[in-house]
Amino acid sequence: IKIKITNIDIPVAFASAFEGEIIRRKDMQVEFDGSRVDCCELVKAKDMNEVEDHKIELIGPDLDEFEVGSKHSIAYIVEVAGKNMQPDFEPVFERKFHSYINCMEGVMHTGQRDMIRLRISKDAFDAGLRAKHIGEVLYAQVKNEFEAVVDKCQVKIYTNEADCTRIRHEVAIPAFDHRDERLSTMTDESVPVYYSCILCQAFSPSHVCVVTPERLGLCGAVSWLDAKATHELDPNGPCQVITKEKMIDERIGEYEDVDESVKRLSQGALEEVSLYSIMEKPMTSCGCFECICGIEPFSNGVCITNREYAGQTPLGMTFPELASMTGGGVQTPGFMGHGKHFIASKKFMKAEGGIERIVWMPKDLKDQVADRVNETAKELYGIDNFCDRIADETITTDPEELVAWLTEKNHPALSMEPMI
Ligand code: SF4
Ligand code: ZN
Repeated sequence: IKIKITNIDIPVAFASAFEGEIIRRKDMQVEFDGSRVDCCELVKAKDMNEVEDHKIELIGPDLDEFEVGSKHSIAYIVEVAGKNMQPDFEPVFERKFHSYINCMEGVMHTGQRDMIRLRISKDAFDAGLRAKHIGEVLYAQVKNEFEAVVDKCQVKIYTNEADCTRIRHEVAIPAFDHRDERLSTMTDESVPVYYSCILCQAFSPSHVCVVTPERLGLCGAVSWLDAKATHELDPNGPCQVITKEKMIDERIGEYEDVDESVKRLSQGALEEVSLYSIMEKPMTSCGCFECICGIEPFSNGVCITNREYAGQTPLGMTFPELASMTGGGVQTPGFMGHGKHFIASKKFMKAEGGIERIVWMPKDLKDQVADRVNETAKELYGIDNFCDRIADETITTDPEELVAWLTEKNHPALSMEPMI
């Protein structure tokens, strides 16, 4: 582990060695839990005259005013200004907060946007850790890492429930929605280039993600806009421009220039890759995919499972079992890792017929993606409420029962061309 000690003025240690630290309930002084109360974290680009550099403001009670073991709201907004700052950089900075805050000894952070959770340990509190120190860390790290575009940075931390509710609903959610909408109106055809991401080569040396507007990175955290911003912030960094001028096969989404880039970026390990097929030259998977999709031979469709789902699938394998055969940066036709957001994409397995092939998903995942999947199915195939025809673990995890249930629901995959 690389330990980077910086001179941030806080009463606890700050190092990447603390990133995986778990704080148990009994050791916790106080908790902020976005799944229960209103919380959010947000970066906002501002004009130069709106930001006072290194101003850290706490609006609301501090940690010593909360009862030991209690749960509260928190909202922190990092406002940055700089000549070269762009609103497109906001989510890229924001995504780093998880790692920044976790580097504090005695502080645990999970999630992002308005689904964050923070725990502060009793030890850290006893050492003198207070809310403003979170601001100090965010300030120092944003200034450190993004000095090329951030001239001034200030942090506002809100701990009053009413403020947090207002900020979450009136400021943060509209900002997140705006970002998502921008991306949702873009298509792969509408942009001049794609981007590579090789951040995961640290663990999977031959893995390359090709990130397009309709296919985000398989970790779910890198959209085309994020990859573009990452490239602009660090032109020699993990995200490089991939041109897409020499189409080889429109059906599976293969381009000569994409192949060339992937070959170069994988040090020759990978020669050809398609963007839209799970069977022919599928993209590789590293290890951090949100979901895995695999073909289900009895129904002629595919099952998807996600990391949070610990149970069995009709493929006879759990997520970790599927992950062990799909990951590692090698092409495994019939299986692929992907982001949650990709499930509702019109480019999802386009070569094999698209989302019409999905026959099974864990119920929680299905609930999360249902609105968008239904919308895509309506648009592509004219099917209403398509998710009602997708099975889940509350229906069955047995392949024979699955086919019987799908037959009853008249699932389209049953009458599609065989995949193998
Ligand atoms: Fe980059 Fe995410 Fe792909 Fe890893 S999984 S290479 S972080 S886009
Ligand atoms: Zn990865």
